[in-house]
Amino acid sequence: MNNIAEQLSLAYQNLNEKCQAQAVSKPVQLIAVSKTKPLQAVIAAYQAGQRQFGENYPQELADKAAQLAAYADISWHFIGPLQSNKTKLVAEHADWVHSIDRLKIAQRLNEQRPAAKGKLKVLLQINISAEQSKAGIAASDMLSLAASISTLPQLELKGLMAIPAPGHSESAFAAMQQLSIQLQQHYPQASELSMGMSDDWPLALIYGATMIRLGTAIFGARS
Ligand SMILES: *Cc1c(COP(=O)(O)O)cnc(C)c1O
Repeated sequence: MNNIAEQLSLAYQNLNEKCQAQAVSKPVQLIAVSKTKPLQAVIAAYQAGQRQFGENYPQELADKAAQLAAYADISWHFIGPLQSNKTKLVAEHADWVHSIDRLKIAQRLNEQRPAAKGKLKVLLQINISAEQSKAGIAASDMLSLAASISTLPQLELKGLMAIPAPGHSESAFAAMQQLSIQLQQHYPQASELSMGMSDDWPLALIYGATMIRLGTAIFGARS
């Protein structure tokens, strides 16, 4: 697991260098995507200083969060597709949800969020490359979904997330930056932009990413 500490340190070094080179003014959060990786991998990253973790599967997030409850300063980010029958697990264990793409899911999360956990921070997932098989809302539906979500008391609208189609990252990131500006004109606090993964995050930074989600670069390939 020593390797994880080294990979993390390298990732932060790269991130800092890129931020300086591009004069990025806002702090950028690195989310370590630990999906499919064992608890020991999360603990190794935690011991190396990492506090933000991303998970794709509701049950896996709930299990890891419960087993690591003693690590109270971890923030869990749910970044995967979310079905209605799994919202409770996420409402009870996540700190952030990046993949909101339906009002119904948001309403269930709002109802199921335990008051003691405080507001659940949410991002709207945009299907920015307009891929038929992909999750996310059309860009043209962003403001209406944002308006509905902003009435839900247990949710806090924090911004946008996207996963561009392979090979189309740059145009997608540029479009996301414009959407984020538009969203912030109506909701100034919704300034987070979650985009960029292990192989395209430097490009995402250029277009204003505030959260990058790195799995492979930290934990190695998934089997
Ligand atoms: C798996 C996953 C990542 C991490 O991908 P890597 O290429 O391993 O960095 C980031 N975001 C989402 C939504 C994912 O599903």
